[in-house]
Amino acid sequence: MEQRSHIAILPSPGMGHLIPMAEFAKQLVKHHHISATIMIPTTGPPPKAQISILESLPENIKHVFLPPVNGLPKGVRPEITISFVMQASFSSVRDTLSSLKSNTKLVALVFDMFGHDYMEVAKEFNLFSFLFFPMSAMALSFTFLVQKLDEESSCEYKDLPYPVNVPGSVSFHGRDLMAPVQVRTDKVYKGYLLLSKRLALFDGIMVNSFEELEEETFRVLRGGAACKTPIYPIGPLIRSDPSDGSDRHESLKWLDNQPDESVVLVSFGSGGTLSFDQVHELAHGLEASGQRFLWIVRSPDKSSNASFFNSTSQDDPLGFLPEGFLARTEKRGLVVPSWAPQIEILSHEAVGGFLTHCGWNSTLESIVHGVPMIAWPLYAEQHMNAKVMTEALCLALRAEVDENGVVRKEVIEKVLKELMEGEEGKKVSKRLKELKFASMKALSIGGSSMESLSKIALQLNK
Ligand code: UDP
Repeated sequence: MEQRSHIAILPSPGMGHLIPMAEFAKQLVKHHHISATIMIPTTGPPPKAQISILESLPENIKHVFLPPVNGLPKGVRPEITISFVMQASFSSVRDTLSSLKSNTKLVALVFDMFGHDYMEVAKEFNLFSFLFFPMSAMALSFTFLVQKLDEESSCEYKDLPYPVNVPGSVSFHGRDLMAPVQVRTDKVYKGYLLLSKRLALFDGIMVNSFEELEEETFRVLRGGAACKTPIYPIGPLIRSDPSDGSDRHESLKWLDNQPDESVVLVSFGSGGTLSFDQVHELAHGLEASGQRFLWIVRSPDKSSNASFFNSTSQDDPLGFLPEGFLARTEKRGLVVPSWAPQIEILSHEAVGGFLTHCGWNSTLESIVHGVPMIAWPLYAEQHMNAKVMTEALCLALRAEVDENGVVRKEVIEKVLKELMEGEEGKKVSKRLKELKFASMKALSIGGSSMESLSKIALQLNK
């Protein structure tokens, strides 16, 4: 039998990109005659959560931990650290590719947006270069636009006197654009601009979204600047084997005793943190709403992504809650410090709403499980996601901030009630139920994302 085509996959550090890229590899290997190796950049011993994902992969997907990168910059934003690690891993990636080239029929290198410089390495090894885009089609359309925006303006985007219209999607105020483009003198901006220029040069772009969710954006992407680069919607890819069920988390046991679709999950992703005042406003809002809730709470911090590299708070987060809050809400609320199994929670029948920071993985997880959302964006591209989710896609209601950037308790109370009991909530809930079905269809045989996967396999097996 002819040797399988083999692909090398290079996710940037962290779980947010590794999980969907590993899921992509699983789909490709399951449905096509292809095998894969995932190369993991490291900064020390790999975290347990990462090891458990990699060890659960099927036989045809191998993994290699690249040697740890030393001398990390201190006190900088997460994206600067990530870029540093990717730049410092060139020689170990080359070594791994050399060895794969001599042992397998290596045909392609897949990297995410922090790894686009590896396009040159793909060329050296005569491989296809694919970009794995772990955000929405809207964010991809914006990324195409960055090059033009850069040419047409010279001020910081937050000072632009006009809105930025993203082709096939909505328009944004410059201050709501994604974090990497907010400071034009920054190295991260220069890197993102280069990515924008390179988009037309990749052999393909896989997007973790699906045709039925962002139909118009995909249509415009294909008809516009992108038309030379094949765009493959391959989502929604979320972690498919979250746990073996042997040691059920306390939050799931608590949910077992709540009525169907009655609980709002409150979670700000793997790294989101709120200020002290905001934690208090949220607590009072939850209390006043009278709704059941499950709140994954972290210790307050001035920065909104303080827990990005370590989701566990140093101090006990429960110690920062208003006095008496836990006792007053114990009959209808559960507060879990730092981390809980979000996917399992969203799949529980007791959950009927999700107050989310609009990270793209969380958004997809909510769609897959048909849970209507409240959008409360914090950082990265979350402000853009929130606008699309509320204005264009009807997936979420909005928790509006006041002039000081705080979501007040009255607003929280009102939006929680509206989501769980109001007419707007019903509309969003109906749309989510439709999308849940559409997302399942996209990933089943003959579905739109499965068709994309077949096209990729065809390209790889050429
Ligand atoms: N997550 C989780 N438990 C938590 C918080 C987050 O399992 O307590 C998972 C969540 O299910 C998602 C990921 O962490 O898969 C967060 O990714 P997302 O893109 O939503 O946000 P980010 O953390 O990258 O800001």
